[in-house]
Amino acid sequence: VHEFNHPITQLAAMTSIVQSGLASVERVFGLLDAEEQRPEPLSPIPLGTVRGRVAFENVSFRYSPDKPLIEDLSLSVEPGQTVAIVGPTGAGKSTLVNLLMRFYEVSGGRITLDGVDIAEARRSQVRGNIGMVLQDTWLFGGTIAENIAYGVDDVSRERIVEAARATHVDRFVRTLPDGYETVIDEEGSNVSAGEKQLITIARAFLADPAMLVLDEATSSVDTRTELMLQQAMSSLRQGRTSFVIAHRLSTIRDADVILVMDSGRIVEQGSHADLLAADGHYARLYAAQFAQPVAA
Ligand code: ADP
Repeated sequence: VHEFNHPITQLAAMTSIVQSGLASVERVFGLLDAEEQRPEPLSPIPLGTVRGRVAFENVSFRYSPDKPLIEDLSLSVEPGQTVAIVGPTGAGKSTLVNLLMRFYEVSGGRITLDGVDIAEARRSQVRGNIGMVLQDTWLFGGTIAENIAYGVDDVSRERIVEAARATHVDRFVRTLPDGYETVIDEEGSNVSAGEKQLITIARAFLADPAMLVLDEATSSVDTRTELMLQQAMSSLRQGRTSFVIAHRLSTIRDADVILVMDSGRIVEQGSHADLLAADGHYARLYAAQFAQPVAA
């Protein structure tokens, strides 16, 4: 596992957040403020490479003093599990992953990674263990190979292609006349949104983090790209603890745990079958969003 410790990676992470639409410009200023408010611990606990066991213990959080959002949220996730987070806009799905990545600090309770309170570790070590694939992704002017290899030092062409194969991204790259040497222009305007995501998925695979944060918010992609994205994401998730802000029925159905969020709370959690049987929030959401046949 490669550790992302240098500031540029955090900047890149920030850039993806800006571009993802997860956050407005104000929210990014919020992020910077949050970082200034809570200095790093004086003697941080070394985190190293984690296995990916995550616990939220009675976590509360508010963006502003007068508006509590998350209250007393608890959750535990075993290494390698996929957690699909669903719920209406504004439910707190992005906030949950922002807390996990320490873009914001909890105001009560704690979040542990392999038993270590993430507030006691360095932010860079927390984030170094988490790969991100967001809806609109960050690529730089350079070849596809360079973009896949971003953040990993001295990587051979074989490993780049291996990562692309493992995530089925190789199939897409091979359709391009210049293959891995295809140059992505500065704005990334010569690759589609779906193709950009494919490249970032291969990038995350190559970096080999124990944990992932994935935002599935589907930008409009054609059916074929959609299928490739599903396969790529699903391969990437294998063996990694994954938090997915989920929009695809296939992801939700296959998740180890579905968290149904509303107004900052987990109103229901369980597997697809459990939650359908419970005939509560999830069953209603499912009927409303997925009752008609959709690409699954
Ligand atoms: P979701 O991802 O489920 O759509 P969010 O976690 O983005 O929900 O938002 C939860 C609530 O917190 C919403 O009411 C949203 O407006 C508010 N919120 C999100 N980010 C910020 C922020 N940086 N500052 C203030 N309020 C925020």
